[in-house]
Amino acid sequence: MPRLIFLGAPGAGKGTQAEAVSDLFEIPHISTGDILRSAVADHTLLGIQAKTYMDRGDLVPDQLVVDLIRERLAQPDAQSGWILDGFPRNVPQAEFLDNLLNKIHQPYDYVVNFDVPDEVLVSRMLGRGRADDTEEVIRNRLKVYREKTAPLIDFYQACEKLAHIDGSQSMEDVTAAIKKLV
Ligand code: AMP
Repeated sequence: MPRLIFLGAPGAGKGTQAEAVSDLFEIPHISTGDILRSAVADHTLLGIQAKTYMDRGDLVPDQLVVDLIRERLAQPDAQSGWILDGFPRNVPQAEFLDNLLNKIHQPYDYVVNFDVPDEVLVSRMLGRGRADDTEEVIRNRLKVYREKTAPLIDFYQACEKLAHIDGSQSMEDVTAAIKKLV
């Protein structure tokens, strides 16, 4: 079963596609955003530490997400395939992930980058009505994406496992493109 890393701006459709691909291959969809949001809702220590960053659209400190990913990838259901959605979000997280995957002998198969124009990103985010999807926070999340996350495209360009997918196509067409790739 495949091990996939989904890259792309907020609103690019990573979560929706990760759900579809997770059903298709029966592999877990690991979303750091979802895990953090449920930690916030449950008022856990992690949630309390993460909340202010998330409310602003900033990245939470690396240490919080790095520990979370290490624990999640050690779970029994993640031993033969997974989709990472929302992690890594910056170069230090990507370096951590490379080391971790080496150590646990779980190389990834593909990094899938979702290309979507800015106008589409903003209208998709405004349409989903999440608490952190106000216009000001959206603007900050896109800025953080450009500064911290977009450099990962160059980071992964060096390996031959980076695939670009046109994320502005219909949901079904994007899923079909991922299926074809894998
Ligand atoms: P997402 O659902 O992926 O858009 O994530 C929602 C929010 O959770 C982001 O705006 C960040 O505040 C936080 N977050 C999710 N994943 C990460 C990550 N890998 N590193 C740092 N912060 C993250």
